[in-house]
Amino acid sequence: MTSFETFAEVCKKIKGISSSLEMTTVVASFLNEVDDNELDIATRFIMGSVFPVWSEKELGVGTGLLYAAIAKTSSLPVRRIEELVKETGDVGTAAEKAITNRKANFNFFSEEKLSILDVFSRFQKIAGLEGKGSQDAKIKNLQYLFGASKPVETVYLARLAVEELRIGVGEGILRNAIAEAFNVPAELVERGYMIANDFGLVAYTAKKEGAPGLLELSVVTGRPLKLMLAQVGDGIDEALAEMSSVAVEWKFDGARVQIHKEGNKITLYSRRLENVTSSLPDIVKSVRTCVKADTAILDGEAVALGKDKRPMAFQEILRRFRRKYDVTATALEIPLSLNLFDLLYLNGESLIDIPLFERRKKLEEICDKSIVAGQTITESAAQIDVIYKEALAAGHEGVMLKNPRSLYTPGKRGKNWLKLKPIMDTLDLVVVGGEWGEGRRTSFIGSYLLACRDPYTDRLHSIGRVATGITDEKLEELTAVFKDLVLLETGVHVEFEPKIVFEVAFEEIQKSQNYDSGYALRFPRLVNVRSDKSLYDADTIEKVEQLYSKQKGK
Ligand code: AMP
Repeated sequence: MTSFETFAEVCKKIKGISSSLEMTTVVASFLNEVDDNELDIATRFIMGSVFPVWSEKELGVGTGLLYAAIAKTSSLPVRRIEELVKETGDVGTAAEKAITNRKANFNFFSEEKLSILDVFSRFQKIAGLEGKGSQDAKIKNLQYLFGASKPVETVYLARLAVEELRIGVGEGILRNAIAEAFNVPAELVERGYMIANDFGLVAYTAKKEGAPGLLELSVVTGRPLKLMLAQVGDGIDEALAEMSSVAVEWKFDGARVQIHKEGNKITLYSRRLENVTSSLPDIVKSVRTCVKADTAILDGEAVALGKDKRPMAFQEILRRFRRKYDVTATALEIPLSLNLFDLLYLNGESLIDIPLFERRKKLEEICDKSIVAGQTITESAAQIDVIYKEALAAGHEGVMLKNPRSLYTPGKRGKNWLKLKPIMDTLDLVVVGGEWGEGRRTSFIGSYLLACRDPYTDRLHSIGRVATGITDEKLEELTAVFKDLVLLETGVHVEFEPKIVFEVAFEEIQKSQNYDSGYALRFPRLVNVRSDKSLYDADTIEKVEQLYSKQKGK
């Protein structure tokens, strides 16, 4: 049985390492150390999660609850805990400071030794608590755990409770660590993970059955597989040159759903493979009435169509996907329709290794036409262009050009699915703030807060954050530049003198309450640091408004 202290010491060790190879080795030896029945907990804990993302279980511990538990354990007021978090910028260190000092006075718990299984089963208990009195009961359970933990355990217990471990172990490191620990090729671990979406199962299989076992991992209903993703295409002619004939579909402006049907049981997963079944009863109903198959896994896009039959804003769909209460009322307000474009499993058999055109044939056989996305197979650039223009005219994003002979490759962004959409402009925005990074990036500013200008008042209005498109080397360089511009630092948040302009690309401008410009950027990416531009050359709020209204002819 592995103690929670061992886990916490491993986390502490990893936190001090910057080389990912070294991190991998430490994780590998930890995986070698834990018992077989602890592998699934160990693989999740080390990445900072408690339950699989696709399970319906949620820990439901927010910072408020955590602070209350730390306050109760330490007999300090919540206000003091909040101060400690501000001072240290980390709930773990704050918990340690609060609880360790206090525990010098009473050590009746010190005989107890927590195991990782103990911690997990307490977390399970916490996740199962609902209704009246559940907050207090959750706090009591956390208090028990804190009471039984040593200082190093306190740090990682607090972080795990809010699922923010911040030690920098991501999917890549864990994949390589499983390969190293159990002496199997990393590609097979990767393949297993894409199909099973469960590192615990992959690690267990690697340990017990080696490479042959990993090869046998297959698609099953009830466990979502990673989604196949699309690359940005260079253009219609280039796609035709690559694929000769192309399967063209609208690129719907909606949200991805993976649907599992097991007899009467229908389960829906979001793009992040979270279980969203209870939020989307209308989609469940469509599947129940329009899919004729005993077991199936379907892939598609849910779209919210307004009264004008045009897609509603992306945020409206997100409201549906996140809704836990008043689901029926929200469903009436934002009705969803389904556009299925793939079939990954049918009546006991995985279909991911047969070509798209065959999967499509079966999809059409089992589904009512009303829920299947239109598809045209063509070799004609002119025909593709017509479909592209129709999609845009209907308010959708563009088209997807798919290779009809391609297999379904879970989790891969490859050349077999190309997306074609109008190119958006870039914006030149002033950097007004930042946030220290996590994991490997703790010593760098990991994300930058951007703002546009109001030329009349000279005020700056925030519009989003950018963290993508920046290499580690660049981050280091930028951190050095911004060091001289710090105005204020509170925990991980930093405010900068507005001097540096970033050229930022993005996929879309959205209305948003989160930033004071009233807009936000979807998928922002740093293109260039415009050292040739000053604050006064940055783009204005008017330009943002213009671009917003240009989108999809709004
Ligand atoms: P992107 O999010 O820009 O990388 O584009 C890929 C996303 O487009 C997918 O994850 C789907 O959510 C969405 N999508 C819309 N229509 C289709 C389609 N016909 N085939 C595949 N994906 C689609």
